[in-house]
Amino acid sequence: MDRVLESDSLRASVSKTGSVLVPTMGALHEGHLTLVRLGKSEALRRDCKLVVSIFVNPDQFNDPADLQRYPRPIERDLGLLEAEGVDIAFTPAVEDVYPDDQPDAAPQPAVPEVGRLPGLEDAFRPGHFQGVCRVVSRLFDLCQPVAAVFGEKDWQQTRVVAAMCRQQARMTEILVGPTVREADGLAMSSRNQHLGPEQREHAGALWRSFQEAIKETDRAVAESRMRRVLTDAGFAVEYATIRDAETLMPSKDPTDQPLRMLAAGVVGGVRLLDNAPWRA
Ligand code: AMP
Repeated sequence: MDRVLESDSLRASVSKTGSVLVPTMGALHEGHLTLVRLGKSEALRRDCKLVVSIFVNPDQFNDPADLQRYPRPIERDLGLLEAEGVDIAFTPAVEDVYPDDQPDAAPQPAVPEVGRLPGLEDAFRPGHFQGVCRVVSRLFDLCQPVAAVFGEKDWQQTRVVAAMCRQQARMTEILVGPTVREADGLAMSSRNQHLGPEQREHAGALWRSFQEAIKETDRAVAESRMRRVLTDAGFAVEYATIRDAETLMPSKDPTDQPLRMLAAGVVGGVRLLDNAPWRA
């Protein structure tokens, strides 16, 4: 595996072969590695290189404390990627992705409606999807991947990135890998390590709220059930809702399909989010 730190070297390494890209912020866990494996089989099938980027993008954090305490175990991450048969670990510095160390100076691509209108991550993390669109555009410009892999865990993000690619007429195919969960259903996340033992137990309510909601036949009842499970477990709920799975807008027509349950909230000072299909 090659470790590449500079965008010029990255461009040179993939220009002839083409690439499949898995963008991450590091602190890798089994969820990331599942995406890496999906990327690997795609890269083999398309006979091109598998690039995994590790870049903690300051531009998509709206909370400076969250950015500050974001874990960065780089040597461990590189070992994990090597073991998965990754061709290139791209680990740029901020100034390499954003000249002059200024994300604001880089072009800001238009954020598609699904990243502005639903009132979900867009509302609770202002500026987040601007940052995501900017860094994904930048990474895609650098390595022109034939395909890129994103996690279902961040469902709204997958819809935003796919819509942005359509807007920009990019050839990159957006692939979505499944969410990997702990034994109690909590989606793996690098932020889980900030949970104390008691809070960790309560965090399982996120998955449980979906299991409870799916038992209901009425959508409004299901939503209040989700919210109830979360508040009972001590969550400060930001949203707990069932939406059109593509536009993420509320859908009035009960026959609309597919639909998605989405929830986010804060427990013990840690913000968690998750989603699952509604009556798939
Ligand atoms: P992050 O490093 O948190 O920016 O995540 C990098 C990619 O991994 C994103 O596409 C996430 O959606 C995905 N991801 C994060 N957690 C999980 C998980 N538990 N299962 C599958 N994919 C995940």
